[in-house]
Amino acid sequence: MSDSKYHKLVAEMKGGIEWRDLRDDGMSRDPERDVEITAVDCRVVAGNFPWNVVSVETDAGVTGVGEAFNGPVGEHIEYLEPGLVGENPYDVERLTEHMTQLLSGLAGGVGYSQAAVSGVEAALWDLVGKLTGLPVYQLLGGKYRDEVRIYCDCHAGEHLDVGDRKSFEAYDPEAYADAAEAVVEEGFDALKFDLDVAAGETDTATRRLSNAAVEHKVDVVEAVRERIGNDPLLAFDLHWNFSVETALRVARELEPYDLAWLEDPVPPENPDTHRRVTEGTSTPILAGENLTRVEGFVPFLTAGAIDVAAPDIQKCGGLAEFRRIAALADAFDVPVTPHNVASPIGTMASVHACATVPDAFVLEYHARDVDWWDDLHAGDPLVEDGRIRVPEQPGLGLELDLDELNDRLAPGEEPLDL
Ligand code: MG
Repeated sequence: MSDSKYHKLVAEMKGGIEWRDLRDDGMSRDPERDVEITAVDCRVVAGNFPWNVVSVETDAGVTGVGEAFNGPVGEHIEYLEPGLVGENPYDVERLTEHMTQLLSGLAGGVGYSQAAVSGVEAALWDLVGKLTGLPVYQLLGGKYRDEVRIYCDCHAGEHLDVGDRKSFEAYDPEAYADAAEAVVEEGFDALKFDLDVAAGETDTATRRLSNAAVEHKVDVVEAVRERIGNDPLLAFDLHWNFSVETALRVARELEPYDLAWLEDPVPPENPDTHRRVTEGTSTPILAGENLTRVEGFVPFLTAGAIDVAAPDIQKCGGLAEFRRIAALADAFDVPVTPHNVASPIGTMASVHACATVPDAFVLEYHARDVDWWDDLHAGDPLVEDGRIRVPEQPGLGLELDLDELNDRLAPGEEPLDL
């Protein structure tokens, strides 16, 4: 683990919390499962996002690997490690709650606290799977499907980085259609584009679009739908950018195109603004990639604010927490489709989790532009014909190529050794 001054300081605190300390090293169990965590670590792989690869080492000589959402997770992991060393990794749920308690002074239930918890939790499931010889989906209660449908995130046509980003010309609807056609030819039958481009706007601070800009967005959606036909699942993302008034105008104009969803149309903080959009259109409204734990979803579900929920398994609290969120959403007849911008590690954790949830109908894939994404693991590319097979191998079932992964680390990071 890190020898940083920060880690030494928190290690001297021994990860201590006074009450509701859920550590328990005296619990009785079969000696075969008498295993102790010896180290917890995090290193950054320089992907299209800085992927946080989390490892949990044990005295059994087995290491579990998970992934936390990109961003400042390393110090949270340093904070957690002293509270986990010596603990038995089989107690995944107790340790996950303990981690949230440990981080309570750092807003334990939200933000990067939960991203760190999510990464460790995934590594614990991988570890227990390797120790028992079982795939993670089996540990979570069993699967509903042998493969998980994947949707390809396509950004904004072919024109993300060219031209005047406030011009209509930079976002030619036919360029979106060309990109969509190429992705469908690769075997995907589900895809998503960004539709919150600044085309036609001179003042984006208002959160309100001109009629011409709304019309341009409709032209983009129409061009894509006409090119790929009505069968592929098609979604568009608005990244929290618009007012209720503008979101409703866009969503209503898009109703004829049978979208799977329109994502994050309005700022994320207020369930009531989402409800006004959701109730005002037949276009399904999706949100949730930044919500954590089941409590984060409660106000959105009870308000009827969303048609589809998109927890991110690398930050919502982990695989088991994702299942709790999905169970609550199911009670409101809201399906789930996880947000995912991860390396193969987090993606495979999401595949296992999705396999165990009846209405997890599609999972994001955000790495079409990373031509070495599949080099991080041995064997065939994970995505085939727009699906990822649910592995039968122990743990996450991903054989990492450590040479490649360590070659791709951000400068100064410690290599991963399994
Ligand atoms: Mg999004």
